[in-house]
Amino acid sequence: MPEIDPIPLAQLTTLRTGAAPARMVEAYSRDELVGALREVWSGGEDWLVLGGGSNLFAGDEPFEGTVIRVLTRGIERVDDGPAGGIRLRVEAGHGWDDLVAYAVDAGLSGIEGMSGIPGTVGAAPVQNVGAYGQEIAQTLVEVELIDESMGEVATVPASELALGFRTSVLKHHYGSAPQRRAVILAVTLDLAHVGTGEVPVAGQQLREALRLPAAASVTLGWIRERVLQIRREKGMLLDSADPDTISVGSFFQNPIVSASFARSLPADCPRWPIEPGIERVTVVPLDRFDGAVPPPVTHESPVKLSAAWLIENAGIRRGFRLPRSRAAISTKHALAVTNRGEGTAAEVAELARYVQQRVQQEFGLILQPEPVLVGVDL
Ligand SMILES: Cc1cc2nc3c(=O)[nH]c(=O)nc-3n(C[C@H](O)[C@H](O)[C@H](O)COP(=O)(O)OP(=O)(O)OC[C@H]3O[C@@H](n4cnc5c(N)ncnc54)[C@H](O)[C@@H]3O)c2cc1C
Repeated sequence: MPEIDPIPLAQLTTLRTGAAPARMVEAYSRDELVGALREVWSGGEDWLVLGGGSNLFAGDEPFEGTVIRVLTRGIERVDDGPAGGIRLRVEAGHGWDDLVAYAVDAGLSGIEGMSGIPGTVGAAPVQNVGAYGQEIAQTLVEVELIDESMGEVATVPASELALGFRTSVLKHHYGSAPQRRAVILAVTLDLAHVGTGEVPVAGQQLREALRLPAAASVTLGWIRERVLQIRREKGMLLDSADPDTISVGSFFQNPIVSASFARSLPADCPRWPIEPGIERVTVVPLDRFDGAVPPPVTHESPVKLSAAWLIENAGIRRGFRLPRSRAAISTKHALAVTNRGEGTAAEVAELARYVQQRVQQEFGLILQPEPVLVGVDL
């Protein structure tokens, strides 16, 4: 097993925090990855798989276990998938954005709106990555994974991963154990073959982000370039020359609340129903129907709020930092907590807690962090 001198997690995570773990292993092939996991699991020690480190907030104290870096790569066309589609199987360590670039060049649609999201393909289902109305749940067919409990490789359909808004059964929430402790080895996606010419843009949210009318047709390449440009302007595209990108992207999730709670907030707080407000149908079996029509059941959809709006309206400006701290809110986006130099995890956590407190005092809800926390408490 290719064990290496442990590298500080500050060098392997985009927020640039974290000490060197007790032990570190690099897996460049699927066999090495499976072998490393089985070896670690047989010893019963703590472990952590690391992809691109772009959704990980690591603490200042060393992780007392083995960090396994997933460095496998490769894209395979499996078969033709459903009508008009192409099925791709991609190794877990493959760069997500490299996959998007490959798909766009090959005229394959379904993930172009997620251009520029950092990290690996294997981590993408962990929090059901998404942007501008696209998320991996829409194209994911299955994953090949290995469970800690069984130690066997299995193919698991996407429907068994409980993919939700930035979550799945595989994600650690607030540092707690995931429902299923498993490592993704490969990911299978179905993409639509639309070619490299101009095509209508699927998805209202994507069209709105791109400022395109409903009838517009553009190439996948155009969408990719435009998305990258928008992300760059928001500091959401990794760029070592831009200190606003030394982050985990969005540090807080957009909260999902009941419609009645949302009504208690100021009218200008942006909100989106998360499911269509379809009236539930009451079915009365014919043998019990007495001629009286039951009153309609009112059904209010939960509502997603803008965490960025809540933060800014709790009085925290972009660029805000606590006295003497090297952590700051991005100057381009209120949702990104950034590390402005050699900042420690403690400094980042102090700022994150301050944001949570201010939002709670002002609006009565606690913002949940989006990244996985390792050795950090918020
Ligand atoms: C600038 C910036 C912008 C971002 N924009 C977005 C965005 O628009 N949308 C979005 O959804 N996210 C966004 N993110 C978050 C992040 O890029 C994604 O969550 C990404 O999928 C993380 O991949 P990673 O390989 O870096 O995961 P890591 O940070 O390495 O790991 C994250 C978690 O996944 C686990 N993990 C990693 N690999 C595997 C595997 N093979 N099997 C099982 N578990 C695994 C890790 O143990 C850890 O718990 C952004 C981040 C940054 C820094």
